[in-house]
Parts: sequence; structure tokens; C-alpha cells
Amino acid sequence: MPEPLAPPSDEPLAADVDAEHERVRVALAAVADELGARAAAAGGDAQQVLEAAALMAQDPAILDDVRTRLESGVNAELATWGAYAAFREMLTAMGGYMAERATDLDDVAQRVVARLRGVAAPGVPQSDEPFILVARDLAPADTATLDLEKTLALITEDGGPTSHTAILARSKSLPAVVGVVGLLAAVEDGQRVIVDARAGTVELDPDDAAVAAADVERTARQSAASAPITPGALADGHRVPLMANVGSPKDAAKAVELGAEGVGLFRTEFLFLDSDTAPTVEQQTASYTELLAAFPGKRVVARVLDAGADKPLSFLNDAHEENPALGLRGIRALRASEHILRDQLTALANAQAATDAQLSVMAPMIADVDETEYFVALGRELGLEVVGAMAEVPSIAVLADQVLEVADFVSIGTNDLTQYTLAADRQLGSVAALQDPWHPAVLRLIKMLGDAGGRAGKGVGVCGEAAADPALAVVLVGLGATSLSMSASALADVRAELLTVTLDEARERAERALGARSATEARQLAAGSSAD
Ligand code: PEP
Ligand code: MG
Repeated sequence: MPEPLAPPSDEPLAADVDAEHERVRVALAAVADELGARAAAAGGDAQQVLEAAALMAQDPAILDDVRTRLESGVNAELATWGAYAAFREMLTAMGGYMAERATDLDDVAQRVVARLRGVAAPGVPQSDEPFILVARDLAPADTATLDLEKTLALITEDGGPTSHTAILARSKSLPAVVGVVGLLAAVEDGQRVIVDARAGTVELDPDDAAVAAADVERTARQSAASAPITPGALADGHRVPLMANVGSPKDAAKAVELGAEGVGLFRTEFLFLDSDTAPTVEQQTASYTELLAAFPGKRVVARVLDAGADKPLSFLNDAHEENPALGLRGIRALRASEHILRDQLTALANAQAATDAQLSVMAPMIADVDETEYFVALGRELGLEVVGAMAEVPSIAVLADQVLEVADFVSIGTNDLTQYTLAADRQLGSVAALQDPWHPAVLRLIKMLGDAGGRAGKGVGVCGEAAADPALAVVLVGLGATSLSMSASALADVRAELLTVTLDEARERAERALGARSATEARQLAAGSSAD
């Protein structure tokens, strides 16, 4: 895939302002048309992302800004670049949804500048043949519109396992290996490669025998993934309920269709983000009832509002924080605005009373027993029957015995647990290599939680992205996880993998991974291959 364009030179404007302005206008219109056409072809969520990008491409304020810059003697490319950068800054300052869209502007700006330069726009090339996509990273517009019929696998040089690209690839069941150092220098267009997404490896120039073996494996995996939907279990019958992560009631139908045995993580933020005030108890009750009604007799674990850090919410905390990930977020923010938490728990209790689902509630970012006692007492006061804690801050693993005396269950959020254990911002590409839940430090904390759950006779689930990685799912069960929750599209692969091992084998794999000295070594040891 073509690399991002080099930034424009700062040569002063050599041509006529009007002529250059017209050239930019034509390029903007062409990019808007192209994005509009791709939007119409894509449909679904991708359509909205691309339509928004098309609108950004033709925003009249951009052309006005470009003219001002041309008039001050700046060349056309730099003027376009500068105008988009200013627009991006403005969106970022607005926060919330608008700030998220800001990164899409980089992609639009690159497309316009490519047209001005007369070179191929960065992005996924069109191909009639199935191919393995090799890229530095993917822009949101590219990821959203990947042709899944043609794209066999994805390899990127940047990004970590919880990066946007990796999560999206997983949600589309696309085999992906991300963060391969030196990839772009090593691979050429048309070269033969084997991608083993489970082992996280890429083999260059394999011989015919290796390709044939990989084909056999791929076919076997495809048929395993389309096997009948059965309740999650190991080969010896040990039950591991497989649940879905959902972001709104809209996701329920797909989760049910793909065989989710309930919901292990209902992210309730969707009602709150993009809003200046908290939704009313009535609004929340209606929405929670809609979700719970889709799971009669099944378990649904609702997480109360998890705002702050990467999900800022002005009515909960608008103080400037130097390190928001270490600031007033999750349960800390809710405790400081208890009325919001009370309203939410009241609405959840109403939904529990109105449906047959078995509702559990849990709070994000619980650090110790004091926060656990606070949340459990409030939940019980407001009529919730099953009240638990998310394990995302390493301290909760160290204190798991104390916490599990009070909480009914614990659910491990491996995305944040990894971020805080390795002190590696989950949003930041430069530390993505550390953002790996296979890291033995993370696995050892999970074992502490699993052991404490076993002693207390209480459930310890996993609801972070780690549960969606089939090989890691086995290790998590070996470490004591009693249920796994993931994006619904990952259920089939994980279900099939669990059926290949007994509990003793899962424990052996976990034991080997715990002894590893790195995430890569843990993967290899768990798979049974030598670590050198
Ligand atoms: C997690 O941190 O692993 C988790 C499940 O929560 P979120 O990804 O919503 O922060
Ligand atoms: Mg989290």
C-alpha cells in the first residue's frame, strides 16, 4: 500500500493565486466525489464515516483559508495542508465525537495533496485478485471499506494489539498481525507471504510445501469457525460461558445470532457521550430495558459509565488534567458526582425489574476494597442483586482476596489492565509494543485474580480484547477465568479453539506462558514451540 505522502515543501508560491486556488478547488471536488462514491458502495457504518469525510473535503471554510494562505505567498500544497491542520485543531478542541473525527482529516488532506501532486493517493489499492495487505497502518476510511472478499489478511508495521486497526480487523474476523518492525523494508509488492495471526508471525518467501500446509490449516479453521453453535466448553466438557461485548441495544441481535450466551460487557457510555447533560432515569431505563429484553433468562453484565481519559465527558469532569488516564475517571469520577451514578443504578434496577434477564452490574477502574465497598453498598441500596468490580488497575489484582470478599464477581478489562501494568498509553503508537496482554506481567496479575476467585468461589471473567484472541483465551481459562466476553464476531473462533483442549492442557499452557520473559515468548511457549 502506498506510504503516506511526504509533507509539502515550503517553497514560496511561484504561480498566480487565482489559478492555484482553482487547482485546489478542483482537487477538493474530485476527492469529495471519490469519497462520496466509495461511501455509497460501502454501505453501513463505513458509509457514514466516508460521507463525513466527503463533507470535510468540500467544507467551504477550507477553500477560504487556502486563499488566505495563497495570498500570503504560501504554495498550494502547503496552503492546503495548513488549512486542514487548522481545521483539525479546531475539531480536536471541540472534544468528544468531533475530536475523534479529526484524525480522518489527515486522510482527506493527503488525498487532496496527492491530486495536486499528480501521484497515487495513499490508501488500499484496488485489485481483482485476493491479496494480503501490507501497510504502515490503516486510516479509518481504509479500514472501514476494506473489501473482505479480496483481503485475505492484514500486516502492519505500526500499531499494537489494542490499536484501532487491530480491534477492527478482529471485529471483521480478518487475520491480522500488527506492529511488525521492519516490515515495509522487507516486503515487496507481489511477494509470497504466510500470515499466522494466532502465532503473530509472518513468513516471507515460504516454499510450496509451507503454502500447502497453511492452506490446509486455513480450510480446517474455516470449517471449525462455521461449526454448530454450542455453549462454550473445553474438550473435557469444562464449561466456559462465551458472552458478547455490546456497545448499545442495537448490537444485541448480532450477538444472539452468533451464539452469545449473554452479555459480559455492556458499555453504557453510548447514552452519555455526545451529550451536554446526563440522560434522565426514564431515558436510561428505556434503553437498558431494550437490551435486557433481548436476553431472556441470560446473564447481562452492565458496566456503569466509564468516562474520563479517552472518553471525556464535560458534565462529569471538565477540569484540565495533565495525565487524564491517571485522573478522575471511571469509579472515581462517578463517586465525585454520585447523583449520576445513583440515577444510572436506579435505571438499571428498573430494567432488571421489567425483564427476565439476569442483570449484574460492575464499576470500571476499581482500585481497592474501599472503592469496592462503596460501589457494592450503593448497588445493593438501589436494588441491584449482583454487583461486581472490573479489574483494570493492577492494585486490584494484588488485593484480589480483599475485593472478592465484598464483590460478587470480578471482570478483567485487559485493555486497561495492560495499559496500567506496563505504563503504556493504549492510544499511543510509540509504546504499542508494550500494550500486549500476552505480557507475562499481565498474565501473572490475571493469575492472582483467577486464584483469588477460585478460593472465594466467585466468578472471574475476562471482557477485554484478550478474550477475543483464541490462543490467549485458552491461557486465560488456564489462569482461572470462568467466562469470556468479546466482540460477537470473535465468538466462533474462540469457541472452536476451546474445544481443542482440556482444562489440564489449558493450565499447562498457562503455566508455560507465565514463565516467559516477554509477550512474544509467552505466545510461543503457550503454543508449545521453543522460545529461541
Ligand atoms: C478494558 O479496559 O479492557 C475494557 C473492557 O474496557 P474499555 O475497553 O471499554 O476501556
Ligand atoms: Mg477499560
